Amino acid sequence: MAAQKVRALLLTVLSASIALPIGYFVAPSTGWAVFSVSLGLQLAFQFRQFAHLDRWSRSPAVDVNLEGEGEWDGVFGRLYRHEKDLRAEIARRDEEISHLLAAGQALTDGVVLLDRLSQIQFCNSMAESQLGLVVRTDRGQHIANLVRQPEFVAYLDLADFSRPLTLRSERRDGRVYSIHVIPYGNDRRLMQIKDITHTDRLDRMRRDFVANVSHELRTPLTVLAGFVETMQEIELDAEEQVRYLAMMGEQSKRMLSIVQDLLTLSSIESAPPPANDVVDMANMIDKLRRDAEALSAGRHVIELESDGLGDLRGSESDLASAFGNLVSNAIRYTPAGGTIRLIWRASVQGAEFAVQDTGIGIDSIHLPRLTERFYRVDRGRSRDAGGTGLGLAIVKHALNRHQAILDVRSTVGAGSRFAARFPANRVLGL
Ligand code: ADP
Repeated sequence: MAAQKVRALLLTVLSASIALPIGYFVAPSTGWAVFSVSLGLQLAFQFRQFAHLDRWSRSPAVDVNLEGEGEWDGVFGRLYRHEKDLRAEIARRDEEISHLLAAGQALTDGVVLLDRLSQIQFCNSMAESQLGLVVRTDRGQHIANLVRQPEFVAYLDLADFSRPLTLRSERRDGRVYSIHVIPYGNDRRLMQIKDITHTDRLDRMRRDFVANVSHELRTPLTVLAGFVETMQEIELDAEEQVRYLAMMGEQSKRMLSIVQDLLTLSSIESAPPPANDVVDMANMIDKLRRDAEALSAGRHVIELESDGLGDLRGSESDLASAFGNLVSNAIRYTPAGGTIRLIWRASVQGAEFAVQDTGIGIDSIHLPRLTERFYRVDRGRSRDAGGTGLGLAIVKHALNRHQAILDVRSTVGAGSRFAARFPANRVLGL
């Protein structure tokens, strides 16, 4: 800049030193005219450079041809370098921001960034699908205008974020979210949304299970305790004593079968994948038939339908437990005189073990819940039949472990057919 000033001064002095003698020797007006023209030329030069700068500054581009004349070249050079550095810095920051956004999108939790007024600044696609947001159109909107569930609005209003909010989504049926608001920066908030549907369901199942087990055991225990108390307080004659003891024995047996079924279920659930033993099906079916006959004690007709071919690969004890439960259910839920048919069909496409009865049948509304623990169509009937409500849960788990499925067909009053279907890779010896 100093050089520019010196140069301007020198040019002015030079113009004056030319104009002065002309003004003195020719005419003062001519001298002034020369001086003015010289100054005008200088001004025109400066204006040209300024106009160039003005044009460039309206849309500053990193232009290698950006150059000025004279000392202006230095100014343009510095501006060029500054613009170039600035562009490089912006590009670097853009890249950093896009990495951060990509990281935000890659998160398996939903993330929403809110400003001090709880207006949406950013949300990842997981949060979009969880809360039904569309970041393109919802940016700048108050979150409570978009997520209107009262418990969520109250949580935001209360502003006590020491604990997460558990939100059962009204929008996405059955999904459960844990929403954690984390304050950061200047009154800003990061909202983290975890999908806890699965853990919430497991938690509920665990609580229901404990409640069910307690309930199932409490009933026979109460009856047993009542008998014990009666026997302690009242002098019973020998006949009554025998009757009471028989009833006590019945309740104890009931508790024992519940505990036994619970242990079977828990061992099937927690066991490693089943062994790949070859299960001799002819032998298994023969044993099942004998058990059925023993349980039926001549009250039913037991039939067998099998060509004796094919064996299964799996755990013999798991399969015996699953098939045994199907057989005992058929006997227990088929009135005397009915027929129970054991069916074994194996082919290279897969195999099926089915138990068909002519019993009481099941209304179709119960079918989807039949394999839930302690689910019974008729609680009293199941109890009278010595059921625990765990049989089909055991069957389902044992079959699952063998990649087999349970297919149930039933008509009230006509009978049921419970079929275990095995994939081809479990069938051998054909
Ligand atoms: P339970 O010990 O009560 O028999 P399960 O889990 O074995 O429990 O069966 C669940 C319910 O399914 C039973 O309570 C009964 O209502 C129904 N059920 C099972 N098998 C049959 C069948 N063969 N015929 C009719 N109802 C059945």
